[in-house]
Amino acid sequence: MKIALLAGDGIGPEIMAEARRVLDALSLPGLVLFEGDVGGAAYKRHGHPLPEETLEMARASDAVLFGAVGDPACDNLERHLRPEQAVLGLRSALGLFANLRPATMFAGLEDMSALRPEIAREIDVLIVRELNGDVYFGEKGMRTTPDGVREGYDIMSYNEDEVRRIAHVAFRAAQGRKKRLCSVDKANVLETSQLWRDVVVETAAEYPDVTLSHMYVDNAAMQMVRNPGQFDVMVTGNLFGDILSDQASMCVGSIGLLASAALGERQTEFGTFGMYEPIHGSAPDIAGQGTANPSAMILSLAMLLRHSLGREDDAAVIEAAVAKTLDDGILGADLGGSAGTRAIGDAVLGRLK
Ligand code: ATP
Ligand code: MG
Repeated sequence: MKIALLAGDGIGPEIMAEARRVLDALSLPGLVLFEGDVGGAAYKRHGHPLPEETLEMARASDAVLFGAVGDPACDNLERHLRPEQAVLGLRSALGLFANLRPATMFAGLEDMSALRPEIAREIDVLIVRELNGDVYFGEKGMRTTPDGVREGYDIMSYNEDEVRRIAHVAFRAAQGRKKRLCSVDKANVLETSQLWRDVVVETAAEYPDVTLSHMYVDNAAMQMVRNPGQFDVMVTGNLFGDILSDQASMCVGSIGLLASAALGERQTEFGTFGMYEPIHGSAPDIAGQGTANPSAMILSLAMLLRHSLGREDDAAVIEAAVAKTLDDGILGADLGGSAGTRAIGDAVLGRLK
């Protein structure tokens, strides 16, 4: 079992250190860890945010645990040299097309939600977002009409293979949860969405144990706020997923609590190859202060163990320890508490098993 640890910039190294301590405490047999440079840190040492050796290290691993990238000192660099490009480079080079973002309410934190506590309490959703297609990757440009009016355009397209592979990921995820899948589209207006819906329905035939429903994206956004407890797994395209997953995270509360996975088709000896990272960024405003909440990073490690290394039991132990830490009132500054990065790491370590 090989894991590449890419800590990155800002609070990345601080929170990675805590995830690393949790990983060490599990004493997994045969585990090999690599450490690589990425983001602004890599630019400073190698002149590029995603050096070839980092990419090779990721390719040679069963999974990548990724901290965060982003460094204000790099703001004036050309776009392709900026730290954020490393994430896009890794996703495309590694063929990671499925973004999994679980949003679950933690006991005792209902008051942190943007929603009323009795509604927030019900949130337990997994958003499966397609990551390699849609309007982000279609032909785009800027033109001026003959009468001098500027016009921007971005082509939205999906082919059936792209939809089918993300649908399979979502149906399988639903099988491992409450067996309910809601596919989100805008099929009343968009051709891409009509194809999306047709292919999801075709794919459903292979998963008779999963209950499939469909929802237009505007309604889904409303339902996420009105009654998020109705959702188990949601599957949607890149653009809609981008928006809905940020919305769902705010419904849960702190940005310091939410993990994500980016998966591809490549199977390893133990599971599916993937890259795992907190949904937050490098938080340069609090870097080096020892106050960052490492929970999202630690929960990303749990996802890694589940999806890439086939270690569901270890993942569940970590998730329970993080939930217990929160339930015991050990909260970081992001949640109005005073526990620092190390203290939260200690608390989680002390609650493993
Ligand atoms: P990106 O573009 O990389 O997503 P961002 O501009 O969205 O970055 P973040 O780095 O996510 O910004 O930070 C947003 C705010 O949340 C900042 O005030 C930051 O300090 C805070 N924050 C982010 N992560 C954490 C964390 N793990 N613990 C505590 N606060 C955090
Ligand atoms: Mg952000």
